[in-house]
Amino acid sequence: MAYRINKAAVIGSGVMGAGIAAHLANVGIPVYMFDIVPQSLTEEEQQKGLTLEDRAVRNRIAEENRQKLLKQKPSPLFDKRRIDLITACNLEDDLDKLKEVDWIVEVVVERLDVKREVLAKIEPYRKENAIVSTNTSGISVEAMSEGRSEEFRRHFLGTHFFNPPRYLKLLEVIPTAKTDSEVVQFMKDFGEKVLGKGVVLAKDTPNFIANRIGCYGLMVTVEEMMKGGYSVGEVDSVTGPVIGRPKSATFRTLDVVGLDTFAHVAHNVRENVSDPAEQEVFRLPDFMAQMVEKGWIGAKAGQGFFKKVKGDNGSEILELDYNTMEYVPRKKLNAPSVQQSKSKKDLAEKLRTIVYAKDRAGELVWNIMKRVLLYSADKLGEIADDIVSIDRAMKWGFGWEMGPFETWDAIGLEKSVARMEQEGEKVPEWIKTMLAKGQTSFYNREQGKTFYISHGEYKQVEKRPEEISLAALKEQGKVIKKNAGASLIDIGDGVALLEFHSPNNAIGADIIHMLHFSLEEVARNYEGLVIGNQGKNFCVGANLMLLLMEAQEMNWPEIDFMVRQFQQATTAIRYSEKPVVVAPFAMTLGGGTEFCLPAARIQAAAETYMGLVEVGVGLIPGGGGNKEMLYRLYDSVPDKADVDLQQLVNLAFETIAMAKVSTSAEEARQYQFIRPQDGISINQSFLLYEAKQKVLELARAGYRPPQPKKIPVVGREGKAVLMLGAYTFKKGGQISDHDYKIAEKLAHVLSGGDLPQGTLVDEQYLLDIEREAFLSLCGEPKTQQRMQYMLTKGKPLRN
Ligand code: NAD
Repeated sequence: MAYRINKAAVIGSGVMGAGIAAHLANVGIPVYMFDIVPQSLTEEEQQKGLTLEDRAVRNRIAEENRQKLLKQKPSPLFDKRRIDLITACNLEDDLDKLKEVDWIVEVVVERLDVKREVLAKIEPYRKENAIVSTNTSGISVEAMSEGRSEEFRRHFLGTHFFNPPRYLKLLEVIPTAKTDSEVVQFMKDFGEKVLGKGVVLAKDTPNFIANRIGCYGLMVTVEEMMKGGYSVGEVDSVTGPVIGRPKSATFRTLDVVGLDTFAHVAHNVRENVSDPAEQEVFRLPDFMAQMVEKGWIGAKAGQGFFKKVKGDNGSEILELDYNTMEYVPRKKLNAPSVQQSKSKKDLAEKLRTIVYAKDRAGELVWNIMKRVLLYSADKLGEIADDIVSIDRAMKWGFGWEMGPFETWDAIGLEKSVARMEQEGEKVPEWIKTMLAKGQTSFYNREQGKTFYISHGEYKQVEKRPEEISLAALKEQGKVIKKNAGASLIDIGDGVALLEFHSPNNAIGADIIHMLHFSLEEVARNYEGLVIGNQGKNFCVGANLMLLLMEAQEMNWPEIDFMVRQFQQATTAIRYSEKPVVVAPFAMTLGGGTEFCLPAARIQAAAETYMGLVEVGVGLIPGGGGNKEMLYRLYDSVPDKADVDLQQLVNLAFETIAMAKVSTSAEEARQYQFIRPQDGISINQSFLLYEAKQKVLELARAGYRPPQPKKIPVVGREGKAVLMLGAYTFKKGGQISDHDYKIAEKLAHVLSGGDLPQGTLVDEQYLLDIEREAFLSLCGEPKTQQRMQYMLTKGKPLRN
């Protein structure tokens, strides 16, 4: 049976149901979103004279939840217009619509009886072979399907998304004993390829993988905190980035999730596991039960483990003292090991530094980590078949940089096990056997391949062919050339890749040198070039620190040289003989965007936040960004006789002057950073592969670079139009004098300078006026203040 999902239905339009519907809309799948029919009228409905029979009333719950999607931040939708793919329905009048869909996902309240009822209700309307899944957080999938037909049960499984579904990578797929293996395989593929998720197969056990281990980790953290007399703020200061976990660490995470939700999840494990010792761990301590009772359940209630209060010196964050149940000033653990660990670059080193330290921080981290590692090892086989699934679930679902087994390798398996045994802990037999055989790590890497331990043997970690790993290619000796900021790597099939690896991937002389080398090398020996990397962000811009230093020293010839080099680099990308495909993802700002614009194609990750943000540091784009925007806007109009040049220039002006940053690749299309011929990769793990395919496609089609051409500018008159808008903003107090000055420089460049309207200019002319304007702004004290502020505070200064 070949499955395909053309249309879907979501039953339950709450937080998760609406989020899943939104993500389906993001990938272009039309979806019916169902909820219950309300029992009573709202005041507003009564005033309007509506009755419980009116469609607007009957669909109200689903429709209101649909509308909420437009207001949520960060947005669950790639582009607000995607909302049109979601149709609100109710579970009484619209059940017939279920006959049209290929996948029904149940996302109603977390109660077995309600879920069973819903499944029974939809069964008669489900078309043959349609897949049905549940998004339960931890209820038995098998139990839910009791009473359904055999055919239904063959097509039934768990699909556990994490909140928010658009942004969290993890999707746990949970088959029951009855689920057809083809259905499981299909959902895994669909999850990865169509929805862009990281799929992990989990067993049908309480809370599956991530919530089981994550929840255990939180419970033991609370226990160890209380045992050692630590405060919640102290715990958070050592259970976040210091050990490779998200900034929100332990208790701020709980505040975001909501203590009520968490209590429910913990309760579910307690009710459904048989080991009394394990049950005990999942019992909420008194103070947390009190918090739930008092409604101090976190962010949605305005207070939880932390509370923000307004004081004399602005707002302040207080922490809950769990002994007195009062809020007190937030504390941090200032043990020496925390500082030492922070100074280390590599996470494994950070972990070793803190875990083995004999101070309060070290003791706490060790005690928590030890228990989480032992528990993960103990649950292997019960919750998942292999360690890889457990590690991935924790990374993709909880944002850990390393999963438990990777963490264990990082701190040293032999050393840590020896200490655990010394402390009287029970180490699982399979680990003792491993060590006895001389297998001293869970993972091994050899020549770019990763092996993991499974039943006493090392097996290769399975990877899809679409997943290119630059780290692995480097291990295989595929680096063609390397300097401090960048590498050129052979990624196979005649394609080379230019990788940035400078601090924050900021563009400096190293990257520019390597770009020129790359283009020459590719022209000689390759089919084309991908520019991409696998860091946290594609690139956050040019090296601002260097620029500021030169500006403060009034080293204008040096700045002129730097900007010229940048412009030559982007021009070289545009005119490369061989196709260049740039693969941006996450933050792609300033110079990062300027590297994308001239490429033959862009292949962007769906989550790409792109923008020419230079005004935030008192500048305008200097690497050809203005010129590129003018060219791509001009090129976007097929019939040049119809071009309304001023309108196009207004658009470029607005985008750059307001430093607009797209909230998705889809939105980057609206700003014209991404054109129709460019591609979007839903799964970021496949991005470089898909960029490479684009290069090969272009090469096969006999790629030729564009021919240089002149374009008309709006000139003086057009500049006056742009400045009129800026003047209104200045008069209205929306922008500062310095903003106005920057706007004037930008308007000058985008209008083509002091020329009559309609004059044809070439690229070099536009680059020259851009560079002049950029240089003059570098000399402005207020621009330098903005740069300084960004470098020290990480956010823009409005002066
Ligand atoms: P929610 O309370 O926001 O939404 C539940 C929806 O179900 C509501 O719109 C409600 O009107 C509807 N509903 C209630 N009774 C119903 C019935 N009898 N028939 C049909 N619909 C009914 O809850 P949520 O957070 O979206 O959770 C939904 C499911 O997703 C639960 O199983 C939950 O455990 C799971 N889940 C939640 C999260 C999370 O972070 N919130 C994460 C993963 C999984």
